[in-house]
Amino acid sequence: MIKQCVICDREFYSRTNAKFCPECSPRRRKTTVELGGLMKCEMCGKEIVRTVATKRYCAACHEFIRRHHGQKK
Ligand SMILES: [Zn+2]
Ligand SMILES: [Zn+2]
Repeated sequence: MIKQCVICDREFYSRTNAKFCPECSPRRRKTTVELGGLMKCEMCGKEIVRTVATKRYCAACHEFIRRHHGQKK
């Protein structure tokens, strides 16, 4: 059935009783990482500020990994 999103008022089709369109779905939002929050480096455990959603390591560890895995030969 056609529903109206409670956030953006856009009409969307849903077979469930969803209140949000796919764009505003909280489930979808959950998968995006909050930038600017603190996270721990997966290598050394140092606390760093997340500036990129895919960031996993502190600058030092990132450089270390890049140098050791970035080589083609
Ligand atoms: Zn919406
Ligand atoms: Zn680190």
